Amino acid sequence: MNYRLLTPGPVQIPDSVLRELSQPMLHHRTPEFEQILKEVLEKLKRVFQTQQPVMILPTTGSGAMEAAVVNVLSPGDEALVVVSGKFGERWKEICDVYGIKATALEVEWGQALDPERVLRFLEQNPKTKAVFTQVCETSTAVLHPIEELSKIVSRFPKTLLAVDAITALGVIDLPMDQWKIDIVVAGSQKAFMLPTGLSFISLSQKAWELNKTARCPRYYLDVAKERKANTAQQTYFSSPVSMIRALNVALDIMLQDGLPHYIRRFEKLSHALREAAKVLEFEIYAKAPSPSVTALLTPPGIDSEKLRGHLESKYRITVMGGQDKLKGKILRIGTLGYIREDDIRAVIEALGASLEDMGMNPKTEQALKTCEQLLGK
Ligand SMILES: *Cc1c(COP(=O)(O)O)cnc(C)c1O
Repeated sequence: MNYRLLTPGPVQIPDSVLRELSQPMLHHRTPEFEQILKEVLEKLKRVFQTQQPVMILPTTGSGAMEAAVVNVLSPGDEALVVVSGKFGERWKEICDVYGIKATALEVEWGQALDPERVLRFLEQNPKTKAVFTQVCETSTAVLHPIEELSKIVSRFPKTLLAVDAITALGVIDLPMDQWKIDIVVAGSQKAFMLPTGLSFISLSQKAWELNKTARCPRYYLDVAKERKANTAQQTYFSSPVSMIRALNVALDIMLQDGLPHYIRRFEKLSHALREAAKVLEFEIYAKAPSPSVTALLTPPGIDSEKLRGHLESKYRITVMGGQDKLKGKILRIGTLGYIREDDIRAVIEALGASLEDMGMNPKTEQALKTCEQLLGK
């Protein structure tokens, strides 16, 4: 039986990317690698939909989040952090470590942000230098209304909007320049179909201006030095050559038929997953569900951790459970990166079979039909 990895990161890796990862080591100071790096940096700009440079950091996604904070702010600066789940808490923790006076805007778990709350906060706190949020809060599978939020924040000339798009960029349309987003952060093991270990970050003109006066301490995560190195086809430190080569192949897959075409499929796959799961009597946890990850509240009497373990050991499908207060209550299924229609059918079938194994009477046939109808479109 095939093993399927259907979590919101890490994700499955296409064969062509795996093959590239197994190529012999190349030195980073060779014309061959410099050419690859140049191509990759150009292609990343297309995925970020920006004219600004996109930088690659040799860290997991959280490294780029930290870079976003330390490269534009100074200790004592005021910031607003949207906390709608575990990853929002991370923004807050990073700010706290660097002495940023960050106010948490708490959003009930499972709900999307109401951008008007940010407007009211910024009107009352005009010294706010940055607003930090997730695009998709992976712990609750909610998609926040970033276009509306960016319209609000961009009205404040001294305030930046920094978004953690780690489970959004490459899955939904997120035009950085057009929406005037000031910092966008992404990670390799999510929509980019790679192993864990690279992160990506891009800054707007407005953010680069603030970078000039930002006094947060930084050595490794210095984006101005990274950008300068990139102009000479180099990275600030030794390049993660194999990962960047693999990224080049992954970006070709993403851009092959154009980004709009590539991201359209996640809408369809996640919609089919949600509708079929409802037939199996799961409830959709997120009030504004993201196409990149689906959180399913398990039917009454079913512990989601048990179901998760069963799915993995008997049906060879790994999905995620819930974190913190959602532990035992939800399953989180990733529909980002290298995911195919067959994966959706397989997980629905295995969920139905697992519920049956646990003594329930699920409508698996009907759920699979729903799946077929929606995937067929
Ligand atoms: C995965 C993820 C991260 C980054 O986690 P790392 O383990 O550091 O790669 C950050 N934010 C969100 C929303 C994520 O889904």
